Amino acid sequence: MKNLFKLMLLMLTVFTLNIACTSDDDSSSATTVTEDEVVTELHAAYSAFNTDATTIYIDETGTNVVIETTGLPNHQTVYWGEGHPLYIEEPDVELTPSIMSSNNNAVTITVDATPNLTGSTVSTTFNTIGIAVSGASIFNDQEGGGPLNQAAASLDFTGAHIGPGVYHYHLEPKAFSNDDDALIGVLLDGVFLYGRKCSATGSYPEDLDVSGGHTSTTQYTDGEEEYHYHIINEVYSNTGSYLAFAGPYQGY
Ligand SMILES: [Zn+2]
Ligand SMILES: [Zn+2]
Repeated sequence: MKNLFKLMLLMLTVFTLNIACTSDDDSSSATTVTEDEVVTELHAAYSAFNTDATTIYIDETGTNVVIETTGLPNHQTVYWGEGHPLYIEEPDVELTPSIMSSNNNAVTITVDATPNLTGSTVSTTFNTIGIAVSGASIFNDQEGGGPLNQAAASLDFTGAHIGPGVYHYHLEPKAFSNDDDALIGVLLDGVFLYGRKCSATGSYPEDLDVSGGHTSTTQYTDGEEEYHYHIINEVYSNTGSYLAFAGPYQGY
C-alpha cells in the first residue's frame, strides 16, 4: 500500500512536470501569435504625422497599419519649384529635372501594427523604405542601385531630392529633426525611426545594434520600453550629414 502511494506520488510529479513543459510550449507559441497581434488603436507616434498629406488607419484584419500619403511634405525645399509658397532658393543644390509640384509623389505602404522582432533581419532595397512624419518618403543609402555619394550634390538642405520617382530623404531631415530626438517616421517593418538623440536619455544612444536600433522608452510610449531605430550619429560618406537608415530591418 505504501509502495502504491509512492508510485502515485511519482506519477503525479511526472504529470505536473508535463504540465509545466506544456505551458512553456504554450508561451512560446503565444509569442508567435503576438506577431499578428490585433490592435484597436493606432500607436501614439502616428499622431505626429502631417495630416494634410497622410491618411493612416488600421486595416480590416486589425494587424496592419496602412499609410496613404500624397508624398508632399509640409516644409520648404527648392524642389517645390519657383512660384510655390514653400519654394526656397538653394543655389548650391544641383537640381534633378523634376520638381515636386508637377511630380506624382503619392505612395501607400502597409506595415505591421506590431513589428515582429523575433525573425531574421531583412535588407532594405532601393525605393521607399518608410514614410516620414512630413508625409514624404524615406530612402536608404543607395541611389539607383549605386552608392549615394554620386547623387549627394542634388540633395537639398534637408537631405532629400527627387529622382527617379518620389521626393525622398536619404539623410537626417533637418527640416524637422536636427541633432534632436524628434520622430522621423515609420519604416516598412513597422518600427519607428527617431533622430540622433533618444528621449530616454536626452543624448546620443550608445547601445545601438547594427540597424541603429535599441529598446527604451520614447516620447510616444507613455513610459513603456519599445524597440526603435535612430539616425546613427556618424557623418555619412561625402555628404556632410547623417544617413537616415541603411538597414537591415529588424521588424519583419
Ligand atoms: Zn535618391
Ligand atoms: Zn532610443
